[in-house]
Amino acid sequence: MQRKPIFAANWKMNKGPSETEDFGKSFLPKVQHKTFPSDIVIAPPYVSLAKASELFGNVSSVALAAQNCSQFDSGAYTGEVSPMMLKEFYVHYVILGHSERRSIYGETDEVINAKVLKAREVNLRPIFCIGETLEEREGGKLEEVLRRQVTVGLKDVTEKDLIDTVIAYEPVWAIGTGVTASAEQAQEAHAFVRSLIGEQFGADAAARIRIQYGGSVKPGNAAELMACTDIDGALIGGASLEPSSFLSIIENGT
Ligand code: PGA
Repeated sequence: MQRKPIFAANWKMNKGPSETEDFGKSFLPKVQHKTFPSDIVIAPPYVSLAKASELFGNVSSVALAAQNCSQFDSGAYTGEVSPMMLKEFYVHYVILGHSERRSIYGETDEVINAKVLKAREVNLRPIFCIGETLEEREGGKLEEVLRRQVTVGLKDVTEKDLIDTVIAYEPVWAIGTGVTASAEQAQEAHAFVRSLIGEQFGADAAARIRIQYGGSVKPGNAAELMACTDIDGALIGGASLEPSSFLSIIENGT
């Protein structure tokens, strides 16, 4: 099964509208009027989505993502943004369950599941993040943790909605640390996640779902990671902030 790789820039809490504009000025000429063998996604902070959609809204090779969304439609939820609101900014994807949301903001698998289901109601494509801490890996709990995150986080998702979901396997110990999982470690975890999808959604879904790797992906390690059978692109934090480095990852990884 040929899966189209997907490279997503997770800017986290970096780049307000003016820095987004600077990024766009340098990145746009490199991607405009071009076709890529992979999907390219940029996830700026909420406040920069309007600027990003102004810059990239008409660029067919680039899609926008939000970094989070509410599990509710509207109402008394101070500080929250609903999936429906994101649609007004030409947002097509939403990162959900990132380890920083889980560890700093206490998002549980159940909350993440509610967000995944709510995002799908308005046809947003979740980039659903999972991954183990170092303690969990060293304690022999890798498979148990991934199984729980996938089973609870994707509960009640239909097979059709699952195909429009991207999974990002991001070992927590590799995020922003400069330590990348080895290609073998990453491939092993990805194959396991794909087998979980097979168990829960069937062989066709398992063959079709895209599973990105995330955690200290850089231009220098992208090719080796992306060469692995079950790795279908990357979710990139630090190295996506510079247009040239994000582009090198895309080029080296495809
Ligand atoms: P990093 O972040 O590339 O800076 O490790 C990846 C992520 O958190 O999505």
